[in-house]
Amino acid sequence: MILSAHNLVKYYGNFHALDNVNVSLEQGEVVGFLGPNGAGKSTTMKIITGYVAPTSGQVTVNGFDLLTQSLDCRKQIGYLPQQAPLYEDMTVASYLDHVARLKGVAKSQRRREVVEAIESANLQEVEKRHIRKLSGGNQRRVGLAQALINKPPILILDEPTAGLDPAQVANLRELIIKLKEQHTILLSTHVLAEVEACCSRVILINRGRCILDESIEDLQTRCKQVTHIHIRLIDNDYSAFTEALSTIDWAQVIEEKDGLVIEAPEDKRNELIELAQKNGGLRECIEERRSLEDVFRDLIVEDQNKKSS
Ligand code: ADP
Repeated sequence: MILSAHNLVKYYGNFHALDNVNVSLEQGEVVGFLGPNGAGKSTTMKIITGYVAPTSGQVTVNGFDLLTQSLDCRKQIGYLPQQAPLYEDMTVASYLDHVARLKGVAKSQRRREVVEAIESANLQEVEKRHIRKLSGGNQRRVGLAQALINKPPILILDEPTAGLDPAQVANLRELIIKLKEQHTILLSTHVLAEVEACCSRVILINRGRCILDESIEDLQTRCKQVTHIHIRLIDNDYSAFTEALSTIDWAQVIEEKDGLVIEAPEDKRNELIELAQKNGGLRECIEERRSLEDVFRDLIVEDQNKKSS
């Protein structure tokens, strides 16, 4: 394991922001770090990168302990915070040179590091321009480029595409896909397309607690396992059909609106259609596949309900 954050607890005053959060990254993984606003993603990332101290918990990065070997840990990580500290009056190249200096890159290596970061982040065309004059998308790339200086094996990216337009989002996503060849990445985002395109695993947190840690493959299987099937009958009387459904344990009516919406395993569609034919005649059968978003939303609602009960 290249990074392990174990049982992180964080109090801001009396406020319990993190309640035993666990995040681990295997070498070469890209892990999506998701959760509603205020769930504790940024706090976790700030702790892992050494910017905020946890109240308790342990972080090890590439074999180094964050508490006792903080500088060694920081060298392993490139961090793109939500508000990257860009010096807007500097040009892209001079800013990156400044970052290289701060990161302790030897003078003889500095130019090469800057050129490579510029190339990796596709900033060649704007390297001599002032950061202030760049588009939001390019400014985000500069933020990414500063994280790449000194080639840290791990990247922690806090909502890298927030505030960008769809074309810039797609562009930056391509870049992240390219970066995953060289880096282990923890990526917080609200864009699920980004998660499906880039990540091999997802950690979902809510109210400062991890409520899911699962591979994308397993999540996609989970999406397929249950579908919502909307059935409308030719006959307006649904009583016989409802009666027949009540004898089947895998089918659950979840809504009665312009027909019936039934939650059922995907492979049972044909049986439902047959049942409808016999009990009122089938007018229409529409399958609503569950998306990753539905799965996450259900988990969050379930967790909220636990709190209120
Ligand atoms: P996320 O990144 O998931 O949106 P954050 O980690 O930023 O969540 O915040 C988690 C919770 O901690 C929120 O309720 C937020 O208001 C609170 N919080 C974050 N930073 C501070 C701080 N410096 N002082 C007090 N509360 C904070």
